[in-house]
Amino acid sequence: MRPDILNPYFASITGLPGIGPKLARPFNRLLGHEEGARVLDLLMHLPSSTIDRRARPTLSQVVPDTVVTVEIHVDRHVPTPRGSRAPYRVYAHDETGDLVLAFFKAERSWMERLLPVGETRWVSGTVTLYDGIPQMVHPDRVVDAAGLAKLPPIEPIYPLVEGLGHGHVRRAVEAALAQTAELPEWQAEAPVIGFHAALRTVHQPHDTLDANPAGPAWRRLAYDELLAGQLALALLRARTVKQAGRPSIGDGALARRIEAALPFSLTGSQVEALKAIRADLASSDRMLRLLQGDVGSGKTVVALLAAATVIEAGRQAALMAPTEILARQHLKTIEPLARQAGLRVALLTGREKGRAREQLLAALASGEIDLVIGTHALFQEGVSFRDLALAVVDEQHRFGVHQRLALASKGEAVDVLVMTATPIPRTLVLTYFGDMDSSELREKPAGRQPIDTRAIPSDRLDEVVARLGRALAEGRRAYWICPLVEESESSDLAAAEARFADLQAHFGARVGLVHGKMKGAEKDAAMAAFAAGQTQLLVATTVVEVGVDVPEASIIVIEHAERFGLAQLHQLRGRVGRGDIASTCLLVYRRPLGEVARQRLEALRSSEDGFFLAEQDLKLRGEGDVLGTRQSGFPGFRLARLEIHGDLLERARAEATATVKNDSDLVGPRGAALRLLLHIFERDVAVKLLSAG
Ligand code: ADP
Ligand code: MG
Repeated sequence: MRPDILNPYFASITGLPGIGPKLARPFNRLLGHEEGARVLDLLMHLPSSTIDRRARPTLSQVVPDTVVTVEIHVDRHVPTPRGSRAPYRVYAHDETGDLVLAFFKAERSWMERLLPVGETRWVSGTVTLYDGIPQMVHPDRVVDAAGLAKLPPIEPIYPLVEGLGHGHVRRAVEAALAQTAELPEWQAEAPVIGFHAALRTVHQPHDTLDANPAGPAWRRLAYDELLAGQLALALLRARTVKQAGRPSIGDGALARRIEAALPFSLTGSQVEALKAIRADLASSDRMLRLLQGDVGSGKTVVALLAAATVIEAGRQAALMAPTEILARQHLKTIEPLARQAGLRVALLTGREKGRAREQLLAALASGEIDLVIGTHALFQEGVSFRDLALAVVDEQHRFGVHQRLALASKGEAVDVLVMTATPIPRTLVLTYFGDMDSSELREKPAGRQPIDTRAIPSDRLDEVVARLGRALAEGRRAYWICPLVEESESSDLAAAEARFADLQAHFGARVGLVHGKMKGAEKDAAMAAFAAGQTQLLVATTVVEVGVDVPEASIIVIEHAERFGLAQLHQLRGRVGRGDIASTCLLVYRRPLGEVARQRLEALRSSEDGFFLAEQDLKLRGEGDVLGTRQSGFPGFRLARLEIHGDLLERARAEATATVKNDSDLVGPRGAALRLLLHIFERDVAVKLLSAG
């Protein structure tokens, strides 16, 4: 139930003048809301830079290669001669000198209307010297006196997508600002500028600092966003901690049997993490702990040993994975160990149906199952436990509080362990998880070989295929990750199928295919064939990204590597280098490579340390293109940039904590304003918590 005052913010952008069905599509794409962007999304699409058009020199004062706006008198037109590649030239002057305006592919009648001979115009753009003569190639703006009055002194530059120009975005933003109004202040120490005013300042700057992330207007907005996040976490925590934990104290018998069954000994960081987890489990406070570890760092074993502790105490544990493939994978790792230790383990996904499902649910409810592994099917209605003590959420990089809450509600004071394979810089741990404790598995298990990572342009794809052919002949196994196509899942699929057909033509039946649209059983069969070595080359979309474990695979080819974020590339690369064979990762990119993409691939080539790469990602992220950003693995803050606004985080956290302490139901007038804030930044999960009491 969103307060009515917010309706204009949540209205569809198609209600804005000028955005018809045709422009709605690129706008939705730009704003990352294919299903229909709202006014709010547009307002939060902030400029990436600005052009300062305030410099108004005479022609003799112009500093070459800077942006200027100059008043000129138009003298004559020299159209491009037929067949020539020379530009269309317009000669102009002021009292102090001459200026040549040059246009490529200009149409004469249009030019004569734009710059009528004998009249005064203002042109804005960059002046360069060409053979010693000042020249402006393609002025950004050509206006008459009336147009000059409307020319923004500082022009915001927005990230764009195909089909949209800056004019479209600026006009839409102007309309959006006009249709929305200032909101009641929610910050405790009211800043000099209100929320709506700050949006206006950033979108319609009068000074370069206005649209700068470090300027006061943007900082206000960033603080709002951080405050919303921290407030949601504080509310969540206040509600979950209210129930004290129930200590689970094991005797260590099961854990010892599992450890004895392991073909390896635990790494130092695994031992340390377990120590912290067992202390949490034994204490009467509820556990909320993050277990961070790079791909292959051995989190599953830690989860299993943690589960063993609560099972020793006579209770149950659940392990939830984001996909079915992963759930099965966990089962595969855990089952043999569990069997030797006498643990009763079961799998529950959307695919368990009918009688089998009924039996399973009954066994869970009666406590015949000690540890259940599954997908989100675990927290659906009808699933109940005899006594759930520990929920392990293998969240990878989906940081939803929803699932955490839902699973934890299946028991009484359930301890929660969240596993993530995307190492998160400390500042971000605080941001996304608030007060969560964190354990890190920084040490790689012994015997791992470094991965040889190379970047190769796609015009050398033939070489890649030839090399792959030799490797397959030697009996090696490889993944081929297909490009991520922007438009839709179906074109992703088409690309993967085309590549599959292509590689099959080269290598025949040794090639397999797995993608997200396959039925569960088909997917399993494809994975199983690859794991067993019946197929040697597995063409895949990013479904293999998270956690798939085939230790024999030692080559991964990632097509269109430039389209992936750093964290995701690191994840994908982690599919190899898991066994004792030296592995190779080939990053195939399409030229030309943008600067950020180049740095991303370079970072990946230089390091395998996920924590280091996460820091790099954070640094590069600010400049990342839209797609790269979205794929980077960190859920996007829309306005706050940790590298610029990180200093605000502590304050936001303190304010959120104090607020929840004083008014944990957000009832006062300020509480009402804060509810608006939670809606604006879509932390309304927290609002639901409030109404649920
Ligand atoms: P992730 O952290 O990606 O979930 P896993 O738990 O899947 O990693 O572990 C990856 C592989 O490493 C598994 O095959 C697991 O059995 C193995 N492994 C885990 N811990 C160790 C260890 N201490 N020494 C050697 N191998 C280990
Ligand atoms: Mg794993």
